[in-house]
Amino acid sequence: QNPVLAIVGRPNVGKSTLVNRILGRREAVVEDTPGVTRDRVQYTAHWNGRDFTLVDTGGWERDARGIHLRVAEQAEIAVEMADAVLLVVDAMVGITASDEAIVRMLRRIKKPVILVGNKVDDLVQEAEAATLWGLGLGEPYPVSAVHGRGVADMLDKVMDVL
Ligand code: GDP
Ligand code: MG
Repeated sequence: QNPVLAIVGRPNVGKSTLVNRILGRREAVVEDTPGVTRDRVQYTAHWNGRDFTLVDTGGWERDARGIHLRVAEQAEIAVEMADAVLLVVDAMVGITASDEAIVRMLRRIKKPVILVGNKVDDLVQEAEAATLWGLGLGEPYPVSAVHGRGVADMLDKVMDVL
């Protein structure tokens, strides 16, 4: 049984793009429209000679209703099944109320959380990711899921806690 890493975050922050980057292939569905990944989707991933299970989830909205409620439930199930959680935030947008709601949920579930500030496509933008310290989850890892920037350091950290 491989250790399980759940990827959570509000819609459109780049969770599925990051999954594809980690897998090294385009398997998770990436969409410009928020909310495309509805259910939990599992993949087997590898890093530094170790295998782990990656669970992509739909966005986790604060006032979830209808189909979005189901998405939130699936994300919560993924977190409960996981050994560790990757919380993805859009570093270019900064902290939103939805991000804060997810953090409260994660505090309750008490799993190790690694905070990732995505869409840091170049060095100039890295300073903006520092605002994510404000979520109270420790050091934010700045990455660009599109370009691969920072993903190796992030995965080294993931393997430390997984
Ligand atoms: P999800 O809803 O969290 O799974 O987000 P997606 O992976 O579907 O991505 C949503 C949008 O963000 C798409 O248009 C992606 O191309 C874009 N995106 C994802 N990662 C990055 C990134 O590192 N940099 C930039 N500039 N855009 C990104
Ligand atoms: Mg997605």
